[in-house]
Amino acid sequence: MKVLERRKDYICVEIYRTLFSIYGKVKCPLFYRTPFQLLISVILSAQCTDERVNKTVSGLFAKYPDSMALSEADVNEIEKIIKPIGLYKIKAKNIINAAKKLNEEFGGEIPETIEKLTELPGVGRKTANVIISHLFDGYGFAVDTHVNRVLNRIGIVNTHNPYKIEMLIMKLMSHESLGNFSLLLIMHGRNTCLARTPKCPDCAINNLCRKRL
Ligand code: SF4
Repeated sequence: MKVLERRKDYICVEIYRTLFSIYGKVKCPLFYRTPFQLLISVILSAQCTDERVNKTVSGLFAKYPDSMALSEADVNEIEKIIKPIGLYKIKAKNIINAAKKLNEEFGGEIPETIEKLTELPGVGRKTANVIISHLFDGYGFAVDTHVNRVLNRIGIVNTHNPYKIEMLIMKLMSHESLGNFSLLLIMHGRNTCLARTPKCPDCAINNLCRKRL
């Protein structure tokens, strides 16, 4: 590992330790009872708040609890149910087609790799990483807007390309901690390192941050 990366390695671990002391092991904010329901909730959460998704999926899962039921659903009915979460036309198609593909190609089971997950309609790399981190022992680093912003401000990364960020963090951190590290950074971005007005004087990791304002 290069010298600069070794330093980043140390900073990442310190950030993890500090944020963990505040937030602990962060629970998935999305409602689900089964891996399939997590998949659907994460697909629906694109450009929507977790709260709104949770309110909407309770009705959806009451009627379509598994991939078999959803794969046979009428798209117009699904559109009506999920309309409050936005982008409902494309999302309705995606979740029905994802359910069909799961049944036809994966025996109704959620695939365990990023490559296979991203074959499902509506599942990009970020979505796949969220699913992997919650279902398969934390081995997934999801880069959302908060993670992207916080890591750039601190100086751990110098790119807004989510794939490059993911690859670098995977080199710096132990795989078991990746999922929670992403969630800790999201919590920090939502509560302290706000997009417009970061609360730097109150920030618990300001001693590690290059951008400290
Ligand atoms: S010091 Fe400021 S910019 Fe740096 S992580 Fe904390 S809140 Fe964000």
